[in-house]
Amino acid sequence: MCQSCNDTFQTLTRDGESRRNFLRSGAALAAAPLAASVATQAAAQEAGASLEASEVRAWAAFDTDGSFAPHTVPRRAAGPKDVVVEIMYSSICHSDIHTYKADWGMPQFPLVPGHEMVGRVVGIGAEVTKFREGDIAGVGTMVDSCGTCANCLADREQNCLNGTTFTYNSEDKISGGVTYGGYSKKIVVKEDFALRIPPGVDLAGFAPLLCAGITTFSPINHWDLQPGQRYGVIGMGGLGHLAVKLAAAKGAEVVVFTTSEDKIADAKAFGAAEAYLWSDEAAMRSQMGSFDLMLSTVPVAYPMQQFLNLLKLDKTLVNVGALFPIEGAHGMMMGFGRQSLAGSMTGGIAETQRVIDFAAHHGVAASYEMITPDQIGEACEKVVNKQARYRYVIDMTQA
Ligand SMILES: [Zn+2]
Ligand SMILES: [Zn+2]
Repeated sequence: MCQSCNDTFQTLTRDGESRRNFLRSGAALAAAPLAASVATQAAAQEAGASLEASEVRAWAAFDTDGSFAPHTVPRRAAGPKDVVVEIMYSSICHSDIHTYKADWGMPQFPLVPGHEMVGRVVGIGAEVTKFREGDIAGVGTMVDSCGTCANCLADREQNCLNGTTFTYNSEDKISGGVTYGGYSKKIVVKEDFALRIPPGVDLAGFAPLLCAGITTFSPINHWDLQPGQRYGVIGMGGLGHLAVKLAAAKGAEVVVFTTSEDKIADAKAFGAAEAYLWSDEAAMRSQMGSFDLMLSTVPVAYPMQQFLNLLKLDKTLVNVGALFPIEGAHGMMMGFGRQSLAGSMTGGIAETQRVIDFAAHHGVAASYEMITPDQIGEACEKVVNKQARYRYVIDMTQA
């Protein structure tokens, strides 16, 4: 029984932690028994403290106008399969903005967004096998799913038939209430929903891979983009710029369509072979029927037929940006070329690990600007106004 919280479970967890620390510590085995014992006890006490339930500092939106302010949120005591992650970097995804603006329905305020985070593991439950204390871990768009339905068993936790628990503003089936995301100092998450971040990478540049990276990586896997194939990326913001980098690393011939003139040069620097403005009618005409796959990352609804026309016969335009009713697709024209308009949203945990490992192997990371937590509101405005180049990463060590 834990003396501070009357919880039997805490004691079991601490004992497991103590054993694990001892077994892993070569130094403890080599040192004098008394010194080893004292050191192990101290480590166990420290580890135990990091497994307890806590109140952590966060930055929250309190209403739909997006002015963020400091807040405190509860984090549960770590269970045997949980890891405690001290968040270092958390990046701003357009979904965070859609959520506080109530574009997808009224959220529960105070809302703590953030589903692209990287941090240090500071506590591990007794049965955790994937992480050790001190490892770097990432958490993305979801923190739990049933684990038993057909979709979960197919590594599609984001499509759980019993309801995925998303990282914020989602029913918390473990602690009750809603989930709170990465604009906070710490998160407690099942190890199965934490991702391994390899050593030596730019941690801030890897945070955006946890949503933007997997969201743009999953379609090129599912639709099997091959080296040399022509791949169109529509919109080049947070998602789009990673779509370009990842597909270029796969050897595809990437073509960007943007509405911002200054992004043309950036697109080529990120690995695109060509880049055009949507308003360039001659360029749009020249691309008709030439693409093997297209990805739309634009975060608002817009007429998509103009891009469906650019696909080869039987090919697909995948929409990952506009999570709204789709307008402007024409049945006759799509039928004429037998093109498909498809949806895709984030990716499973195994596939998310794949994109992280792929990015580390190919030297891909997000291009970003670091901000402090008090700049979140201002940065969100810039995202909406297409001024982000290309992700804002919040330095949560400053929170
Ligand atoms: Zn996102
Ligand atoms: Zn499931």
